[in-house]
Amino acid sequence: MTSGAFTRTGERGAGAGSRQEAVLAALAAGILGPAYDPAVPGRMLELLGRVPGRRDRRRLLGALAALDTRAGAWALTGHPAPVSGRPPAAAEATVAGWADSRLATRRRLATALAPLALLAAYGWPGPARDATGYPGPLGPAPDAPRRLRPLRPDGDEELACDVVVVGSGAGGGVVAGELARAGLEVVVLEKGGYAAERDFSHQEGDAYRHLYLYAQTLTSDDLSCRIVAGSTLGGGTVVNYSTSLAPPPEVLAEWAAVSGVDAFASGEVAASLAAVADRLGVTEAQSRPGARDRLLEQGLERLGWHAGPLPRNVRGCPQDAGCGWCGFGCRRGAKQSTLVTYLEDAAAAGARLVVGADARRVLVEPARNGAAAGRATGVEAVTAGGHRLAVRARAVVAAAGAIETPALLLRSGLGGQVGRNLRLHPGTAAMGVFAEPVRWWEGTLQARYSAELRRRLGPYAPLLETAPVHPGVAAAALPWRSAADHRAQMERLADLSLVAVLCRDAGAGRVRVDRDGSPRVRWRLDPADEARMAAGLAAAGEVLAAAGAGEVFSIQRRRLGFRPGDPGAARDWAEATRRAGFARGRAALFSYHQMGSCRIGADPASSAVGPDHRAHEVDGLYVADASLFPTASGVNPMLSVMALAHRAAAKVAARLA
Ligand SMILES: Cc1cc2nc3c(=O)[nH]c(=O)nc-3n(C[C@H](O)[C@H](O)[C@H](O)COP(=O)(O)OP(=O)(O)OC[C@H]3O[C@@H](n4cnc5c(N)ncnc54)[C@H](O)[C@@H]3O)c2cc1C
Repeated sequence: MTSGAFTRTGERGAGAGSRQEAVLAALAAGILGPAYDPAVPGRMLELLGRVPGRRDRRRLLGALAALDTRAGAWALTGHPAPVSGRPPAAAEATVAGWADSRLATRRRLATALAPLALLAAYGWPGPARDATGYPGPLGPAPDAPRRLRPLRPDGDEELACDVVVVGSGAGGGVVAGELARAGLEVVVLEKGGYAAERDFSHQEGDAYRHLYLYAQTLTSDDLSCRIVAGSTLGGGTVVNYSTSLAPPPEVLAEWAAVSGVDAFASGEVAASLAAVADRLGVTEAQSRPGARDRLLEQGLERLGWHAGPLPRNVRGCPQDAGCGWCGFGCRRGAKQSTLVTYLEDAAAAGARLVVGADARRVLVEPARNGAAAGRATGVEAVTAGGHRLAVRARAVVAAAGAIETPALLLRSGLGGQVGRNLRLHPGTAAMGVFAEPVRWWEGTLQARYSAELRRRLGPYAPLLETAPVHPGVAAAALPWRSAADHRAQMERLADLSLVAVLCRDAGAGRVRVDRDGSPRVRWRLDPADEARMAAGLAAAGEVLAAAGAGEVFSIQRRRLGFRPGDPGAARDWAEATRRAGFARGRAALFSYHQMGSCRIGADPASSAVGPDHRAHEVDGLYVADASLFPTASGVNPMLSVMALAHRAAAKVAARLA
């Protein structure tokens, strides 16, 4: 969570640790009530340490230190008593007061700290999670051999190759596999670690710490949208939900028009889509719905609305209860992530994969002899052990995802359109309470969806889907009003289901970098997108009601609900949720799909890279990830990313031939 508006009071206390931990302990005891356990404050402090941006970390820790002084406590809570000495009931009242405060600084404290405490309590085994009926991981990880041998340099090192690829996810994995197969010498730099089937503990909190970008602490700068992405060898493809939708023809047509790149309409991108779908084994034959998708389908069918199967990139997927944990890595090796496809292809063809290698900048030789652009000559990275790794190369491919690719390019001195046009596919959800346990954490990751609203309202209307929900993320998303109210919601966790509202955003955000080079995401929910989100939530509520929910509610700050059966209740609820709004922290919003921040296009005035994926400003520097999208894909983006990376690889190979 970024935290721009936190008080500066106490900044010098940053890093003190124990004082902040004591304040976190007091606040967590108030937020959690009887669900508190002493491991929570330490976990909170550790998660705060993963917040990107030194300045934001300092501000957060500074605010905590200030809360333990009389003056700071007075300023931030209205009581002169240091927070660490206050009883749980007083801390609970403080947090409740923050949530409703007219002062932005106080509201931000609630928005930052309450979900953190809830995640720290429910994301790991302990008294909080035990009371939810959640079974935890289903047994130990299999004793399967690791199939890759990535490098982990333990000193300063220099490597040389034809192409250095930054990032190993949907884009980077495909580029590396294709270029290595074409006979080029490839080095892949991945800032995450390497985890294979035997390493997937399926412990929710640990998975966020080890497999996700910034341990899921990244948010938009107003804290309104949590930005979730994978960060491990294989990137998002290791943790994602295996939905493999191709961009619809109208999206490809829009991309051709917006970018001026004919390939979107000419069949060239379609050929790349077919190639990657084939390599990943994309199929609709392994989409057996679990309980949560059955409810979605039932509700849609009873309303007479569109319901379709989701194609998935799996081979030999059992589609059983254990599948719901694959957001923490697929233990069966069924999910065809780049880890078990393109990166294996790359390694087999001699590519070197380096993990724990955080690319800090692209090395750029200044323009010479009248050339318009400088030339990329390699990448400088920092290893997990703090050593310098320099990779000299004839070409550099940035595929670090739509947040980190622009950050890397901005750190390297590029400007122009780099970082602009960011789309997040912001999502919210309607929740339904059912009479029978649903156990929404189980079952095929995603099996059904509805494009009903898109058919009725046009190409920017939301899709309806479900997703596996585990206690940590549920606890952080469910609105907190008081310890007892939240705990009561968590105790019926097994009976909840959801219909998620996946918005295709027309409004744009922007990625910038802080002074220490870390990304900062400026993003606000656009009013037109907010209106479409409201329509999506109303529809999601209708679906849950039709599926038999006894109660339906939103995850807005003011949790609004209705009981199906009361005449007019759904309509009144839809109107109330629309009025309550979704922007500026009024609802829990999540982004699982970031894109568009270095978009491809013919015109440098509106794009960051040219039609051949080469940066307008630097020769030899290519982009091959979700950053390229001219506008939001409107469908889950992995397959589109891979297709564009497939195309990018062909352009790079042709250039180096
Ligand atoms: C939980 C979850 C579920 C999802 N489900 C689906 C789904 O079902 N279907 C779908 O289509 N999409 C899904 N997505 C989205 C999809 O996974 C992403 O859109 C896709 O992976 C993006 O590809 P990418 O190559 O742009 O980035 P990523 O796949 O995120 O890869 C970027 C990689 O670069 C690395 N990196 C970042 N910075 C640096 C650096 N400085 N140096 C070195 N390495 C760096 C990161 O660690 C990461 O591994 C999901 C995402 C999440 C998080």
